[in-house]
Amino acid sequence: MIRSSAFANKSYAILGLARSGMATLDALHASGARVLAWDARMDLREVAKDKAIIADPMETDLSDYDAVIVSPGVPLNSHPIRDKAADDGVPIIGDIELFAQARRSLPPHRVVGITGTNGKSTTTALLHHIIRSAAIPAQMGGNIGLPILSQHPLAAGGVYVLELSSYQIDLTQSLDCDVAILLNISPDHLDRYNSFDAYAASKVRLFDMMRSDHTAIFGSDDEKTRLALQLIRAEGRVDNIIDTSTAMLAGQQDWPSLPGPHNMQNVIAAVAAAEALGIQEHQWRPALESFKGLSHRMERMAEAGGILFVNDSKATNPASAGPALGAYSRIHWIVGGVPKSDNLKECEPFYGNVVHAYTIGDAGAMFGDLLSPYMPVDSCEMMLTAVQHAAANARPGEVVLLSPACASFDQFKDFEARGECFRSAVNSVIENGQIKGQTQSGTIAGGNNDQTGGRME
Ligand code: ADP
Repeated sequence: MIRSSAFANKSYAILGLARSGMATLDALHASGARVLAWDARMDLREVAKDKAIIADPMETDLSDYDAVIVSPGVPLNSHPIRDKAADDGVPIIGDIELFAQARRSLPPHRVVGITGTNGKSTTTALLHHIIRSAAIPAQMGGNIGLPILSQHPLAAGGVYVLELSSYQIDLTQSLDCDVAILLNISPDHLDRYNSFDAYAASKVRLFDMMRSDHTAIFGSDDEKTRLALQLIRAEGRVDNIIDTSTAMLAGQQDWPSLPGPHNMQNVIAAVAAAEALGIQEHQWRPALESFKGLSHRMERMAEAGGILFVNDSKATNPASAGPALGAYSRIHWIVGGVPKSDNLKECEPFYGNVVHAYTIGDAGAMFGDLLSPYMPVDSCEMMLTAVQHAAANARPGEVVLLSPACASFDQFKDFEARGECFRSAVNSVIENGQIKGQTQSGTIAGGNNDQTGGRME
């Protein structure tokens, strides 16, 4: 856990006691701060009660507090805590800002901040792996699901790699990244911002906080990322600007967990960051080969009868599903859920790689209309039905890919539950390394085309 003298004898109110809120409570308590904490869930309040005064910040006079710490899940655009904190004259911050304030009391270290609409977790995990492979101590945290304040502090010379969502950047005021990466920006999370521009501007703030002699990396040439790069350049805010959007790197066939054009973008950004940290090619290249990848992101889940099953459940928008379709040439594509828009524009360039589509969830009818001019489409509704159809149709050498281009909340708790449902469905159609009901050569032996399906949660 990260403790800091910066918090001693100060007063904080924490709103939201999920993973990062609880880690914040532990770190502040251990650092000698006075804490008031609250969560709508009674069980979480119960867990916190030995370390904090349990009271609702909305009903407390906060004027003597040093800050209100809210979880990034709290929608600040609509939550009354924003006005309450303003009325009481107290800043609203997040756990990343606390980490930024704690840095002075940590041994000398560097910080890499990674943001973007898609690819943050993959790039964070990859860079962390590259740094550790170069025998430099590293910790990762932030939006990747590891609260940074609960990580073990690094010895001198270490590197903290932070995955930062726009919500987290909104709650951060003083994080000076030694290297900051903006991977890409596409429309997403627009329920939390007044406009796409406001969402993009939120990401750009990462560069506003950094010292001018540090390094800024831009990964894509999408419109908003390009504008951000031009802005930072024009304002002369950062001296070292690296535009990796047109760079290429040989050897992708040797990186089994990093297929597709999107992962090429992630690799190039991670390598640029690694080199900015002084890591050389003979150190980073082997790490690309040994990187294991993350669950639910282009995860090679099973291979049976020559058919590869890939779980890309984390593709919750068309901009992330598109490049997944670019990773293979003969794809049976399982797609659908809660759509983010009325089109699949970013997927269109890759339709030529899709042999057959299988729609699931709320988006089924709309996606059926969008896709059927270009490819055969089965309306499956349920994951199990989709997997059964895809497994029955696929031939050796082909890939069954779950890359839904949608949020999961119509049928699942989250993208992880959706990926696990895909995993069970795939396991249910495989027996002894073969697709049930198919011969070794991959031809259909019997009528294994059970269309009944069902929800598997
Ligand atoms: P994030 O943390 O930003 O959500 P992840 O690494 O978890 O990013 O990947 C989310 C989804 O986006 C996955 O389906 C993944 O395959 C896809 N993806 C990964 N990198 C990129 C990228 N650079 N551009 C577009 N999609 C990507």
